[in-house]
Amino acid sequence: MTSPAYAVVNLEALQHNMQIVRKYAPNAKIMPVIKANAYGHGLLRIASALQSADAFAVARVDEGVQLRKAGIKNKITVLEGFSNINELEAILANRLDTVVHSFNQLNLIEARKELKACSIWLKVDTGMNRLGFNPTEFASAYQRLKCCPLIQGPINVMTHLANADDKHDTTSLKQIDLFNQTISTLLEEQRLETERSECSIANSAGILAWTESLADWVRPGIMLYGISPFPDCTGKQWQLKPVMGLYSRLIAVKTLDEGDKVGYSGTWTCKKPTRLGIIAIGYGDGYPRHAKEGTPILVNGLRVPLIGRVSMDMITVDLESQPNAKVGDSVTLWGDDLAIENIAIYSDTIPYTLACGITQRVRIIEYNESSTDH
Ligand SMILES: *Cc1c(COP(=O)(O)O)cnc(C)c1O
Repeated sequence: MTSPAYAVVNLEALQHNMQIVRKYAPNAKIMPVIKANAYGHGLLRIASALQSADAFAVARVDEGVQLRKAGIKNKITVLEGFSNINELEAILANRLDTVVHSFNQLNLIEARKELKACSIWLKVDTGMNRLGFNPTEFASAYQRLKCCPLIQGPINVMTHLANADDKHDTTSLKQIDLFNQTISTLLEEQRLETERSECSIANSAGILAWTESLADWVRPGIMLYGISPFPDCTGKQWQLKPVMGLYSRLIAVKTLDEGDKVGYSGTWTCKKPTRLGIIAIGYGDGYPRHAKEGTPILVNGLRVPLIGRVSMDMITVDLESQPNAKVGDSVTLWGDDLAIENIAIYSDTIPYTLACGITQRVRIIEYNESSTDH
């Protein structure tokens, strides 16, 4: 028996979205961000599909180790780096590139005497105030790393934008300026050297909205999955194609009387005799618990509204507009014809959480045009 709830991961769309990254950042090397199980799309699936990428970025050491165990050969950057000696050893043993953002990490690197090559990204905090050295600490952190026999190759430098998804907020430009100022002396010193430090600033919103943030490397995450990083538009408006579609089917259809209530706490009351459909999807699959009444859902490709509360395994829709809908009919929760960005708005969240939140019991079906029979 197969679960009625399934997600289709469209690898053609993924390749298409890589081309859009290339279009916006034609001169940059691309480091697809595949942390958090590739935003719910499957870490190994997405890494395997993007093997031509210049590198990958993950958040945690264990994500990088998982990629190496699966035979992924690309460079892999660990964005959070390590926070203890065991994690540093795992980084070295698995040839992962680490972000170095704190003096705690610097001390651990300096204490590791034996030679074993490690290439790093030194992170500057230009205003996100999460990870990174302050601009005033940058020069001393750089010098200390430069003296470590462990460090191989040039020390690359990065920062992260805090508000790039707001196209009207100049915070991004201030961050980019501060970053460029912070590293200007270093780049000047390296002018005549053959190996120079490479820089990286842009996430998806930077790539699409802030050309000033395009440096040697870009770090696209959400846009690769076809989703807009901006709250006021959908990926489609950037020519992106959704990679994930979430689907299920109707498992019951019934007509209730005026005054009948639907679901936990009976938050929805029938104003007249109403035909309802019950769909096999719920927060146990990753459908958002906070989706509001009226959230659009496609039954046989036609929009119907969600009613009542989302439960763990089921939701209810009003089928008044679809008198012929019956048990077994197909349902789209989000995908090509129903933007995940809209579902996020109805759920008071961002599409990142919806994609990441798909749970284990959702079957994943890979779609790849070139691998299907014609
Ligand atoms: C997650 C992450 C990204 C990717 O961000 P998107 O908004 O998904 O493009 C890039 N850089 C860093 C440091 C991140 O943590």
